[in-house]
Amino acid sequence: MKKDFDVVIAGAGMVGLVTAALLAQSPCRKQLKITLVDAGKRPQFRAGNDIALRVSAISRGSLSILQDVGVWQQIMSQRAGPYRRMRVWDSRESVEGPDTLRFDAADFAVPELGFIVENVLIQHALLQRLDDLDVDMRFETPIAHTSLGGEEHRIDIQLQAGSSISADLLIGADGAASLVRESAGISVRTWDYPQSAFVTHVMPERSHQETAWQRFLNEGPLAFLPLQDGRISVVWSTTPEKADRAMSASDADLAAMLEQASDEVLGKLEAVGPRGSFPLRSQHAQDYVMPGLALVGDAAHAVHPLAGQGANLGIADAAALVTVVSEAVLRGEYPGDLPTLRRYERRRKGANQTMLLFIDALNRLFLSNSAAIAGLRGTGMRLFNQSGPIQRRAVQVALGINV
Ligand SMILES: Cc1cc2nc3c(=O)[nH]c(=O)nc-3n(C[C@H](O)[C@H](O)[C@H](O)COP(=O)(O)OP(=O)(O)OC[C@H]3O[C@@H](n4cnc5c(N)ncnc54)[C@H](O)[C@@H]3O)c2cc1C
Repeated sequence: MKKDFDVVIAGAGMVGLVTAALLAQSPCRKQLKITLVDAGKRPQFRAGNDIALRVSAISRGSLSILQDVGVWQQIMSQRAGPYRRMRVWDSRESVEGPDTLRFDAADFAVPELGFIVENVLIQHALLQRLDDLDVDMRFETPIAHTSLGGEEHRIDIQLQAGSSISADLLIGADGAASLVRESAGISVRTWDYPQSAFVTHVMPERSHQETAWQRFLNEGPLAFLPLQDGRISVVWSTTPEKADRAMSASDADLAAMLEQASDEVLGKLEAVGPRGSFPLRSQHAQDYVMPGLALVGDAAHAVHPLAGQGANLGIADAAALVTVVSEAVLRGEYPGDLPTLRRYERRRKGANQTMLLFIDALNRLFLSNSAAIAGLRGTGMRLFNQSGPIQRRAVQVALGINV
């Protein structure tokens, strides 16, 4: 029986949409019949609406991929707040202290280190691009199950509505709880944290100075990310109890909690935005690929938000996967061939693992109450600060500058 599609992308989050857009404008497009399916409704962005709760720090590496797919101008013309500086410090010290990590765009000869952008705006711009590229998309179409390894070069995707579709390659971009991954029997290594991320927007008394601020407290880091309208997006990784308290606090009490946690680095705060709380864990899939299947984004790896890397790693996965698939198709191979997909896995899994372990170690280092560990992290920050080329390289990799 004839297959329905060459490639099916499961998931219209930022990563699935970038994957679809890259594939749809790749040189092999004419040879591929593509569809994208998502369980939810089509994401909507309206310029007149308040800035959405979920925003991401988008690195220069991701920015350049979003430029390649032709959506960055549209995102910029709507609203994206640049961050040109970062300040990272330990709660036992002052932000003015010598051990504070200071990164400035000027030191890297770039105009900004990255941008803070609403997730839904990135999705909206990509959806419009996919409309222009005439890509088939199906919303409110949850996948219920997948069957791999049946007929050669074929994967069957059963939809919850009862019908099924078949393809040479299924790309699982269906998030951290990926059904595609689970259905294929791919296990994950999981790191649980005694933390939730409390998220909101607040208006600071003093200007945020287009700077991303991060203060490491004993229960987890508190990040203030600069928004375009002068507010800051707060990402506070803390105990689930404190996150619950922040969720239900009055505006005045919430402002007081955040002023104390931030050591008033930006002065008094006014609680003015929506609120949300997300349990935190990291996880990494044992395999990214099987014959006819590849995982990208949170389906492959979920990381603690302290380094603002989750979406950025996923967007880099999308670019790597589309490159190897496109090259293979142009050589006349099937997009779901295992040797092709292994090339993608080799390009991304090690790099993602390094970032996962680094972020996990950083989180645990600061979570510790031990005096010895506290001394160690002070020394570590000082050494990192003085490490010159090592510090420079680490920041370049994390921010996708010149890499
Ligand atoms: C508090 C917080 C702050 C963060 N800050 C940053 C940051 O600053 N920078 C950064 O890079 N990252 C950040 N991240 C991480 C980032 O949000 C995620 O890595 C990113 O959103 C993952 O995108 P995705 O497309 O892989 O998955 P998702 O966004 O989870 O999308 C998955 C999609 O799959 C669909 N789906 C699920 N199941 C099915 C099914 N059975 N059938 C069909 N469709 C299905 C869903 O409807 C959804 O649309 C943060 C995360 C948190 C929690």
